[in-house]
Amino acid sequence: MKRICLLHTGGTITMFKNAAGVLQPPTSGEYLLEYVPNITKIADIDNVFLFQLDSSDINPRHWKVIAEAIAERYDRYDGFVITHGTDTMAYTATALSFMLGNLSKPVIVTGSQLPISEIASDGVTNLINAVRMACEPISEVAIMFGHHLIRGNRSKKVSHFNLDAFISPNCLPLSELGAELRLADHCMVRRSKQVQLQTDLVTDVAFIKIFPGITNAFILGMVPPRTRGVIFEAYGTGNFPLGDEGIQEAMENIISQGIPTVISTQCIYGGVEYERYQGGWFAKSRGAITAQDMTSEAALIKLMWCLGQSSDDKEIKRLYQTNVVGELTERETRP
Ligand code: ASP
Repeated sequence: MKRICLLHTGGTITMFKNAAGVLQPPTSGEYLLEYVPNITKIADIDNVFLFQLDSSDINPRHWKVIAEAIAERYDRYDGFVITHGTDTMAYTATALSFMLGNLSKPVIVTGSQLPISEIASDGVTNLINAVRMACEPISEVAIMFGHHLIRGNRSKKVSHFNLDAFISPNCLPLSELGAELRLADHCMVRRSKQVQLQTDLVTDVAFIKIFPGITNAFILGMVPPRTRGVIFEAYGTGNFPLGDEGIQEAMENIISQGIPTVISTQCIYGGVEYERYQGGWFAKSRGAITAQDMTSEAALIKLMWCLGQSSDDKEIKRLYQTNVVGELTERETRP
């Protein structure tokens, strides 16, 4: 039987309604296991209760705790499952994919839309399927939710009620649940490497969504003196206002301070092609970095991670634009 480590971090799956009818995390998540007694038929499971949080309270310090908890136990288990709230699950899964370098075992993140104690909860099936996936020869951080297993750093929460709450817009699912468990060909299955913890993140970054009417002054106000990186979530292929009321002054100001500046897109499908229109072209010519087809979550966390890996501008740009753990589609293979 495979040995699986189940790490608990909270989320709706363990929550209960308080006297006011509001969902809140319990002080201990141990009662969750009472709802899945048969899970021990799939694998030999050890539970680790890390914290019990609504995932909106999870931040980069918690990512590090989770990554370290996995690394410490790495040799003792065949796979890892993490229970987590859905609100920031895509962020955590993305962060772990960068923090756990050379991963050669499955790290499967799951949760549910309804508390496991509710009769129609999706928690039991999600948890069971997550453990099944953790017994497979998968070598990546993935989210098991509803009917799909998807790459963690490609995932996006798109619904707070649908039982298939996550999509992976620019990467096909790693597995689609059916009568048999099948993994897609692009699911990573490399083997026999020692995990390498790379948990340093620089979190002093500004994430600026472009909107009609945005001004240079507003942008500069969002970039205080100690800012180490900026992401512009631009329109379409990486476009933004360039006319009389354009934002080129703010962008030039930021880039000229030597702050790595990324252009990502508000479009969920497809990626930045910043040669296509004048806005993107302007950013590229001034030295901005492209997020290509990364999700906004990945664009943000990868910048934090690259800044933690190097302080050399050229190296940060090179690393950011390289496919590190499947978070972007390399140009030649893009449809
Ligand atoms: N607020 C909850 C959380 O992210 C939502 C959920 O788990 O579905 O912890």
